[in-house]
Amino acid sequence: MIELKEITKEYSKGIAALNGVSLQIKQGEFVFVVGDSGSGKSTLIRLIMKELEPTSGTIIVNGQNLERMKHRKIAMYRRNIGVVFQDFRLLKDRNIYENIAFAQRVTEKPTRVIKQKVPAALSLVGLAQKYKSFPKELSGGEQQRVAIARAIVNEPAILLADEPTGNLDPKNSWEIMKLLEEANERGTTVLVVTHNQEIVNEMQKRVITMNKGVIVSDEKKGGYKHEN
Ligand code: ADP
Ligand code: MG
Repeated sequence: MIELKEITKEYSKGIAALNGVSLQIKQGEFVFVVGDSGSGKSTLIRLIMKELEPTSGTIIVNGQNLERMKHRKIAMYRRNIGVVFQDFRLLKDRNIYENIAFAQRVTEKPTRVIKQKVPAALSLVGLAQKYKSFPKELSGGEQQRVAIARAIVNEPAILLADEPTGNLDPKNSWEIMKLLEEANERGTTVLVVTHNQEIVNEMQKRVITMNKGVIVSDEKKGGYKHEN
């Protein structure tokens, strides 16, 4: 489903954020990516979203070589990838319903479909009652649940989360991880960047550990590794 072959990414000449990274993620996998700040985790996510181009190497997602993807296909490609960030990134001037409907309108879904899918996505994250609220009226944990609803409303094949619990307390962090796990159980391939050691150790998923732009370990039912 996601394959990187010898990916190197240099933001400026000679300094590699990623240095010859190869990895394969199968359809339906749940994968944690851990590693110190600056080790290249966000770069990896942005390359998979085709927000960045590698300096060298090949990325294949769903059988498509991203380098060969036509410009006009990129928006459609991204629609099949849900993303969640540490800072939620909700639209402040729109209510919760609109925040999620917005993600649907850009795909030109008929209103009748949107009216059905938005509440369904909100129910999945336990926020069906809050559809009229504005982001600032919700707690951090609730805002992140809205961001997850928005990421899954199009039933993406892939869900990428970059430190989704970075701003949350332990209880909310667990709730968010459980929602990501549920999306995975419905068939979505999930990639989660995190620093949350306790959750990584408890969940017993595949763990890819990065350090200074390379993968230093990749374990099937792994735990959080300390490099220092
Ligand atoms: P992580 O997410 O693991 O903290 P990043 O992928 O954000 O790591 O960054 C990896 C390296 O690339 C770091 O040295 C960082 O400073 C550098 N980097 C990231 N983004 C940029 C950018 N837009 N321009 C220049 N350097 C960058
Ligand atoms: Mg990062």
